[in-house]
Amino acid sequence: MMNNLLDGIEEILLMGPGPSCVPPEVYTALSRKTLGHLDPYFLKIMDGIKEMLLQTMNTRNMLTVPISGTGSAGMEASFVNLVESGDKVLVLVNGVFGQRMTDVAGRLGAEVSTLEFAWGTPVIPETVEKKIRQNHYNIVAVIHAETSTGVMNPVAEIGAMLKGLDTLYLVDTVTSLGGIEVRMDDWNIDALYSGTQKCLSCPPGLAPLSFSEKAVTRLNARKTKVPNWYLDLSLIANYWNSKRVYHHTAPVNMLYGLYQALLLILEEGLENVFRRHLKNHMALVSGLQEIGLQMLVKEPFRLPMLNTVLCPEGVDESSIRRRLRNEFKIEIGGGLGPLAGKIWRIGLMGYSSREEDVSRLLNALKKILQTR
Ligand SMILES: *Cc1c(COP(=O)(O)O)cnc(C)c1O
Repeated sequence: MMNNLLDGIEEILLMGPGPSCVPPEVYTALSRKTLGHLDPYFLKIMDGIKEMLLQTMNTRNMLTVPISGTGSAGMEASFVNLVESGDKVLVLVNGVFGQRMTDVAGRLGAEVSTLEFAWGTPVIPETVEKKIRQNHYNIVAVIHAETSTGVMNPVAEIGAMLKGLDTLYLVDTVTSLGGIEVRMDDWNIDALYSGTQKCLSCPPGLAPLSFSEKAVTRLNARKTKVPNWYLDLSLIANYWNSKRVYHHTAPVNMLYGLYQALLLILEEGLENVFRRHLKNHMALVSGLQEIGLQMLVKEPFRLPMLNTVLCPEGVDESSIRRRLRNEFKIEIGGGLGPLAGKIWRIGLMGYSSREEDVSRLLNALKKILQTR
C-alpha cells in the first residue's frame, strides 16, 4: 500500500485570518454526488445559491454570482470587468488588501491614485470627501474589513458621499460578509465581492460577487473587450441567467458547499450571526486583557471576526504560534508587512466564532506565555 498523506491530517482549530473551520453539514454537502453543471437539478441549486447571496448581501442585483476562485479572483473580476486603460481609480489603502487592489488596478492600465491611512487605523471619510470633490474618478475602491490590521472601514459613509456621482463604488467584503452587516444597495455599492473561507465557513474556492445596474451599464459600454476571458462577467452571466450557456465547468461540489454554508447562516439568522460574532469578540478581548495583552486597534474600529493583538516586547511571536499549533492544535496568524513580528491575528470567523473555542485559545495562550 502507498502511504496516503491525507490520513495524517489532524483536526486543527482554525483561528487565524482564514480559512476558518468548516461545519460538518458543509463537509457532508461537499461529498454529495457530483451532478452535471447543466443538470436541471443542479440549475435549481444554482438559483438557490443566488437567492441566498442576495439576502446575505442585502441587494436585488440581477448580476450576483459566485466566481470560480478564491477571494482574490473576486477582486480581479471586479477590476478587470470595470477598468479600461486610462481610467482613474482611487484606492483607499490602510493595509495589505488595499495595496493588492492598487496592484490589480495598475496592471489593467488604470491611472491609480491612493489615499493612505496608518495601518491599524480606519479610512477617514473627510479626507476621502476632499479628494473626490477635487478630482473625478471612474472608480473608488475600499476594503470593508482589512484582514491584515483588524480594522473596519466606514463603507456606508463613503458610499453616501458617492451618491449622484458617475463614479463606481467597489468594495471588498471578503472578511466582512457573514460576520458583520453588509448592505450593498443601501450603501450605494456598485461592485462587491467576497470569499468562501472567511465568515461563510466554506473551504476556499469561490468568490461571491455582485454588480449593480450602474456597474453592468459600465460593463456593457466598454470600448474594449474584458482583457481576461475566464473572468469576463458578460460571459459568466449567461451561464447564471436563464440562458444557461456553457462558459466554464462550474465547480459543482464547491457550490454544494456554498449552498449549505449560506443555508446555515440564514437559518441561524443574519442578526443572530452578527450578535454571536460580537459576543465572542468581546469575550476574547476581555480575556486577552486579563492575561496582560493589548489590542492593536482602538474601539470602535475593531473587527469582531479578526482580532489583532500586540505581541509583548521581548516575546518571539512566531514561537508562540508554533507552540499553539504543535501542542494545542490551534492555528492563529502573524502580522503582515510592517506588522510582521509585532502582532498576532486571531480570527473568530463564522463557525470558528464559538464560545468554547475562545476559552480554549485563551487557556492555551496563558499556559504558553507562563512557561516561556
Ligand atoms: C483573504 C482576503 C482576500 C483574498 O482572498 P483569498 O481567498 O486569499 O484569495 C482579499 N481581501 C481580503 C480583505 C481578505 O481578507
